[in-house]
Amino acid sequence: MTVIGITEFLNAHDIKPSYQRIKVYEHLVHSENHPSAEVIYRELIKTIPTLSKTTIYNSLKTFVEKGIVKVVTVDGNEMHYDPVLEEHGHFRCKKCGKLYNFHIDSSQSFSELVSGFEVEERNIYLKGICSQCNKK
Ligand SMILES: [Zn+2]
Ligand SMILES: [Zn+2]
Repeated sequence: MTVIGITEFLNAHDIKPSYQRIKVYEHLVHSENHPSAEVIYRELIKTIPTLSKTTIYNSLKTFVEKGIVKVVTVDGNEMHYDPVLEEHGHFRCKKCGKLYNFHIDSSQSFSELVSGFEVEERNIYLKGICSQCNKK
């Protein structure tokens, strides 16, 4: 996604496209590893020395509220941010720590939950060793 594309995308979702917000979103879409706010901060501060952590947290909060970014919680407390909105599963490599996306069949239902249950969220989360690390 280009900077112009991101600007239009943010506008379309009723988010004021400030320079920092564009940068945060740009980093999210270009990073394949579902970064945490901390990681985004460490990366962006290299090119935007005036950036504060508060700005990052606020931008991410706005993105989540407006529904353009999803929060992924792995292994307890740390929040990771994911710009991929279609339902997909995550695979966490225990060696390199990368969080991979994989396609899931969203038509699958859980037949033991019949009437009276309303599923609002599904999280498919697998753990293991990724193919890259397995090669070594
Ligand atoms: Zn790995
Ligand atoms: Zn993902």
